[in-house]
Amino acid sequence: VFYKLNGSRITLREFWWETKLFAWVGLIVKLFKIRLRGSTDDLAVDSLRPFLAEERNIRPEVLERFAPTIQQLRALGFEAPVWHDEEDVVQATRNTLATLRHESGRAWARVQCRTNFGRVPAKVKFFTTFISRTPGGFIATGNGKYDMAWPKTHDTVRFRLLPAEQVWAMHQQRMTAAVQPVTREQLLDAAEAYHASLRDFHLARGVFQPLGDEELALYPAAAPADLNQSNVAPPTAVALDPATDPTAQPPLAAAAPPDLMEVATLDELRRLQNKKVNWRFSIALLAISAMLFIANSRHSEGKQDWEYVAIIVGILLVHEFGHYIAMKIFGYRNLRMFFIPGFGAAVSGRHFNAPAWKKIIVSLMGPLPGIVAGTVLLVVALVLHNELFFRIGLFALIINTFNLIPILPFDGGWVAHAALFSRHPKLDVGFRLVAALLLIGIGLIVPGTRFLTFVAIASLLALPMAYKLATIVSELRQIPAIGVSPDSQTIPTATARIILAKVRERFNRNLTASLAAQHVARVFESLNARPASVGATIGLLSLHASAFVVALVVGVVAIAVHQQQSSRHNPVDPARYVVTDREIESAGPEPTSPRNVLVARFKSIGLARAHFSGLSPARPASRFGQTLLVAFTPTESAFQRDLFNQYEKVAEDTFVETQKMRAEVVVTCNLPSTGTGKQALEDLELYFQGSDWRLIPPWASETDWPSEQRALQTVFRRLVKELQAGGLSTSTELKQLWAQLTAARRRGDTDETTRLQVQIKKASEDAQAANQRRLKEQYGHADFIDKWAEIQKSENIAKRQARLKQEIAPLLGRVPPEESDDQLANSGFATRVANGRCQIYCNFTHTDTGLTAMTRWLFSQGASDIRYVIQGAATAADDDATAIER
Ligand SMILES: [Zn+2]
Repeated sequence: VFYKLNGSRITLREFWWETKLFAWVGLIVKLFKIRLRGSTDDLAVDSLRPFLAEERNIRPEVLERFAPTIQQLRALGFEAPVWHDEEDVVQATRNTLATLRHESGRAWARVQCRTNFGRVPAKVKFFTTFISRTPGGFIATGNGKYDMAWPKTHDTVRFRLLPAEQVWAMHQQRMTAAVQPVTREQLLDAAEAYHASLRDFHLARGVFQPLGDEELALYPAAAPADLNQSNVAPPTAVALDPATDPTAQPPLAAAAPPDLMEVATLDELRRLQNKKVNWRFSIALLAISAMLFIANSRHSEGKQDWEYVAIIVGILLVHEFGHYIAMKIFGYRNLRMFFIPGFGAAVSGRHFNAPAWKKIIVSLMGPLPGIVAGTVLLVVALVLHNELFFRIGLFALIINTFNLIPILPFDGGWVAHAALFSRHPKLDVGFRLVAALLLIGIGLIVPGTRFLTFVAIASLLALPMAYKLATIVSELRQIPAIGVSPDSQTIPTATARIILAKVRERFNRNLTASLAAQHVARVFESLNARPASVGATIGLLSLHASAFVVALVVGVVAIAVHQQQSSRHNPVDPARYVVTDREIESAGPEPTSPRNVLVARFKSIGLARAHFSGLSPARPASRFGQTLLVAFTPTESAFQRDLFNQYEKVAEDTFVETQKMRAEVVVTCNLPSTGTGKQALEDLELYFQGSDWRLIPPWASETDWPSEQRALQTVFRRLVKELQAGGLSTSTELKQLWAQLTAARRRGDTDETTRLQVQIKKASEDAQAANQRRLKEQYGHADFIDKWAEIQKSENIAKRQARLKQEIAPLLGRVPPEESDDQLANSGFATRVANGRCQIYCNFTHTDTGLTAMTRWLFSQGASDIRYVIQGAATAADDDATAIER
């Protein structure tokens, strides 16, 4: 009776002995009860007796292998060997044992040659074990590798690769007085008892398991001729005991030797085909791979962007679900969905009769639904103005469109491969090669796609294999009626044998049975993936191409529409509160200077209106949209405090503008870019440029600033602007000198630097003089220009500022007395921003009168959609004071 091995029952320690690096593989094997193909030093048979063999029936090459060791042992006092020859089709292994009794009877040697045919080249192990019998068990000393565990009754030590005579010396030391000698007649029984103790140990812990009906049905076909009489040959038929039937030939030696590699491969193939979906494994695979994927994405993002990760995972799930459903409909089996950390996700499944057109549809069914879903989301997002939907939709569109690129391993690549490049091995390998090189290119050029380089390297390494398999497929296509799977799930054995022969011919190095089985399956699958007809190919490829084009167009249009929408409802507009000209009102007497202004912004215009009408008629106040601006003289602090406390409970933002607490104002609006709108913006720009000179602002009333004076001022202000520019930026001579100066400084040439600085000073004076001459010609007003130039020459900045204020400003317009004009802005700037809106940042001497006057003026100049925000900001002077106090 043969047994099969159950890998999940093997202990981690044994896995560790087998391959230290892959002990963790053992952990997975145990966790998921994966069946491993393997063989063991301990023979997986019920009894050794059926395998007793005559020396003349042992293969000569095997005998040759044994000869030196046997010679050595004979020299050490061991008697002639008894032979066992076992061929284990289940493990695809041949074990030959030579058992030699020591003349003392106190020990015997078991020389074992174990050949694993489940791989190419076959793996051979050769080792010797010295065994002594004790009342409770055995003492064993060997030079094999640690392979399987042993029962507690055994006292086993192994000295790997130690020469046999040294192992014998060690064993002699380890033999105790309790050793029971074995007579020549007892030798076989003792050897059998040793085997039985190991067998029972492995059976008890489930490592050895009786063969199931499936295996029993399969193996007789490959077993020696005498087993072939019945398809359910009882394994006892092997038990031709030469002891009871001396005329019987040892069965395995006489029969034509079965091709163990073929048997093992067909067994693997059978297992591959019969593999059932293990739900525990599938779900664990999806969950664990998703967790790794999430961990990897989060790590590479560097911040906790859960929203991003959730969107990616969601999009991938929808995409893969599309593949999954298509595969399910076409009858694929063993479907498994999993994430690939750092790359994406995939669905695997098996179908042996899927023609190319089905494969193409399966590949397209991932991206196409994703593109449709992305398009729907984008439309919904643009209609509802939903930013999250827009992000998800755009992301889905991008990921799925990218997947249509005809480069392996993307879906588009598989479409192109199935439709065109799988038709010839050279085309196939050429396509893979070009795809890998393109991927390396993308990975190197596009930031954040380094993983593509690794994918490409992996596919380059697999290129020789792909070429060999494609060649096998094209050779086999020449054979008519090579065999089709009757049910899409199984490979006819005759066909599998033909394919395997080809596979062994091409892959003559490092081929294991399980690898060979996978190759056979892949070749069979490709063989049955009959290329689509010309019509179908053109149709499917045009579907692919048009999906790609449509997705690109949808993406471009959606982005354009979204951009236009966001320029209309600019989410980054710093001013948030809307004000219309009807929502600006003032009440009470004219406010006096100096004063404090209580600024309170209410939740709604209605609330602001109610509080405004509740104010005393004697109180100077303004309402600006949903904001109230109430004036107090510095002596009215008690009233101010009361109202502040009252408003703070109901308003969203409340503060008092004082000398030390300025209100900073941002106003945005749409101002026409032609006519009065353009003029208004220029007025604002010019005004804010000279605002520290306390000029009359553009929003001052007509009585303060008659139109003819306004026209004159505009000319002067432009003039000042050009004078300030000084014509320096247009002088090519200066530019060259600056470049020379930089070079000289870099060289550390101080003499040259000094010389150039003098030259530059001269040149800039010349440039300014030339500029002034030009401006005099253009504007006239020579006395104004001369005055300005003369003031510029004074060395002291403060003095210069004061003179500009006293001597130039009056020429530009009426200068109000300090603190008296309550519409002035202290500083600010006005500009037109990218989306066509104007932004004005400024602060007023008194925000209540300044802001309302400026806004009313803006409306009169054609401004629309005016928004504002008012924030209290401590002035620098105040900060300094507190800093000193501390
Ligand atoms: Zn896909």
